[in-house]
Amino acid sequence: MTKITKTDDQWRQELTPDQFRILRQKGTERPFTGPYNTLKDEGVFTCAGCGETLFDSRTKYDSGSGWPSFYQPASPGAVHEHHDVTHGMKRMEITCAKCGGHLGHVFPDGPRPTGQRYCINSASLGFKPKAPEKP
Ligand code: FE
Repeated sequence: MTKITKTDDQWRQELTPDQFRILRQKGTERPFTGPYNTLKDEGVFTCAGCGETLFDSRTKYDSGSGWPSFYQPASPGAVHEHHDVTHGMKRMEITCAKCGGHLGHVFPDGPRPTGQRYCINSASLGFKPKAPEKP
């Protein structure tokens, strides 16, 4: 995978202020505010920074957290994990493997089959609906 490196000025030009704050400055959107929290459509969720496919709607579930939640990434290498000890918590941060954008955190309280909960900001994601079946 070719990694993407851009300056903050470049990212600022391409992203909305919310996307920049969350993806590039490790911010968080308020729960139950993002457009993808309740989305149940079939398709794939992409990185709002670089367009890489990150999650499949088939692994999305309602965690009740107020953020889009998935039990696994679209592919094992799509996201990177980093120990995060900010805000007095021990958490595992999730970033996009391609552009390094902050996505959210993963917690070990998810459903089967993985037991993982990838808790992701809507602002870090795009959505590509599944193409309709040909008649
Ligand atoms: Fe990305």
